[in-house]
Amino acid sequence: MTPTHLPKAFQRRPPFWMIPVFAIAAGLWVAMVWRFGGRFVGEESRLGLLLLGLGGIGILAAVLIHAHVQASLAAAGDAVRDNAEDEFMHFLNLLPVGTAITDGTGHLLHCNQKALDFFGLSQDHSKGMDWTNPDFLILQPDGNPMELHDRPLTRALATGQRVLDVVLGVEHEADGDWAWASVSAEPRFDEAGKVIQVIITFEDVTKKRTAETELAIQTFRDRLTSLPNRTLFMERLAQAILRTERRKLSTAVLFLDMDRFKIVNDSLGHESGDSLLVQVAKRLRGCVRPEDTVARLGGDEFVILFEDLVNASDALRVADRMAESMAEPFHLQDQEIFASCSMGLALCTLASTSPSDLVRDAEVAMYRAKAKGEGSIEIFDPSMNAQAVERFQLESELRRALERNEFVLFYQPLVSLSTGLIEGWEALVRWKHPEKGMVPPLNFIPLAEETGLIVPIGKWVLEEAIRQASAWHTDFPSDPPRLMNVNISARQFQQRELIATVTDALEVTGFLAACLKLEITESVMMRDPQASLEAMKVFRGLDIHLVIDDFGTGYSSLSYLKRFPVDTLKVDKTFVDGLGKDAESTAIVGAVISLAKALGMRVTAEGIETKEQLDHLRTLNCDQGQGYFFSRPLPAAQAGELLAKNPRW
Ligand code: C2E
Ligand code: MG
Ligand code: MG
Repeated sequence: MTPTHLPKAFQRRPPFWMIPVFAIAAGLWVAMVWRFGGRFVGEESRLGLLLLGLGGIGILAAVLIHAHVQASLAAAGDAVRDNAEDEFMHFLNLLPVGTAITDGTGHLLHCNQKALDFFGLSQDHSKGMDWTNPDFLILQPDGNPMELHDRPLTRALATGQRVLDVVLGVEHEADGDWAWASVSAEPRFDEAGKVIQVIITFEDVTKKRTAETELAIQTFRDRLTSLPNRTLFMERLAQAILRTERRKLSTAVLFLDMDRFKIVNDSLGHESGDSLLVQVAKRLRGCVRPEDTVARLGGDEFVILFEDLVNASDALRVADRMAESMAEPFHLQDQEIFASCSMGLALCTLASTSPSDLVRDAEVAMYRAKAKGEGSIEIFDPSMNAQAVERFQLESELRRALERNEFVLFYQPLVSLSTGLIEGWEALVRWKHPEKGMVPPLNFIPLAEETGLIVPIGKWVLEEAIRQASAWHTDFPSDPPRLMNVNISARQFQQRELIATVTDALEVTGFLAACLKLEITESVMMRDPQASLEAMKVFRGLDIHLVIDDFGTGYSSLSYLKRFPVDTLKVDKTFVDGLGKDAESTAIVGAVISLAKALGMRVTAEGIETKEQLDHLRTLNCDQGQGYFFSRPLPAAQAGELLAKNPRW
């Protein structure tokens, strides 16, 4: 039994109690040997027995005193040691970095609070833990798990070398947050050069890393969709192009622009627009391989980088998949929204191609697709570039045309086929281009539609046409007063502002609402028949008449046609052209006139160029005619002269 294992009472009490105990024991022994010793061992041995007993008592006393002294010394040693460990832990806890010390096998000996906090561990839980293989996941800076042999402690133990500043991450069990530290490990050796301890330090870099990640997100990611942004896309594209030649495979860029995105934004609000973009981003990502890059350039424009393509059809297949995926309805504010996108593809087979050229080519092809119709896809071919340059020029000129007063209205008479007199006009816009001369509407209206410029242009047309008609009412009065037809584009028709524009213009001029007719093409009306019906009801409520323009070229649904509060059907020129010449057109014109009559509508025939056509239409009981046969569209002054003559056809 070692002294330290004696009962505590023995270790603590001073040994003074032993003096009377042993003195009494010795006295008793002397007295007993004196009184009875002679009887047992004989008188001559009594002294010997006495001395033997006293010697035994002395030895016992010596052993006990020695044990006590030993125990006291050990207790004092423990106290000193405990005190030193407390001080050491206190010192460890004062260190500004997390610090842990393991033995030569990686088992934890000491660990300060900062280190415990970093790992989310408790002192009890961590004691003696094998830190070469802890039971929590350790991450590399790129977010992938850190292999065992890459960890600082394992490396220090294996190589006997100091390991400096390895960044790693651990997940806290309590809140699931990731903490990041820069870790160093320093081995300590015994005299024989064997590793006996490793001191590990952890500098918490979580805040720094969060700031860096945030910066990387700001620099390389699109905030809304988290997709790579233009900067990152261009960087990856440049790399991909460099690899193209080496691998003998091609790289392609698909440029994608949503159709009618602005309408969603304008009508449902920006939040819905954002939500749509996020959903679109997700769908696009779902259509490509993990190695392809889908990026958002801004607004409703996305680009996709395909690497290692065997041929263009691989990319086209993905584009088809994207178009299919987009065709599924999107859910916004409990509504189902249908979206589509126009796509342009550009292929690169030469390492000399510049990334920005490739993206520009894809964009040019996308514009080509847009012009073809919603949801189309086009592959870039070099001839497209010249057209794109022209288009860009036209767009910037168009933007300035309004301020520079370059638009003019021409007026074409609408003739009553029963009286042969002018009963109204159609206002037709022209662009008086400083170099190109008079630009016809079909050369700039589609672009104005696409860019939204049609809204201010259309507003000007409405105001100017109403002002002119009002002036003619004063200068050339008639009974009933003459009508003014104004064309309204798809984009204008979808805007709530149109109603205000019309009512304001009527108010300013004092023009009769009943003399204004808005011409809306059949395809625009049928694009969203329900919304069109609502808008039409508002106009009818204001006593403004509505005309379906270019009738026969779209796909009218008869059931809607019946419900639309439309005053006039305008038979498209293509059918009038064939009147009397081909049976089909003749039949169609006859049928449209009968249909209009059945629905209680008037009929106007467009593009009458000959007397025969006019006569034929008269026999079919067509109400109104318009065409070069009567007059070409005229500038206001000449139209005024015509009114002054008041011709009869
Ligand atoms: P639209 O509304 O169907 O206008 C009739 C077009 O047919 C006019 O062409 C007119 O000049 C032409 N036209 C009339 N009679 C004849 C004829 O006998 N023979 C031939 N060959 N053509 C005839 P324009 O002025 O070039 O206008 C073309 C289209 O541009 C219009 O078709 C209309 O959709 C659009 N447009 C014109 N002005 C405006 C406008 O102010 N706003 C909007 N949104 N669109 C407009
Ligand atoms: Mg028209
Ligand atoms: Mg027309």
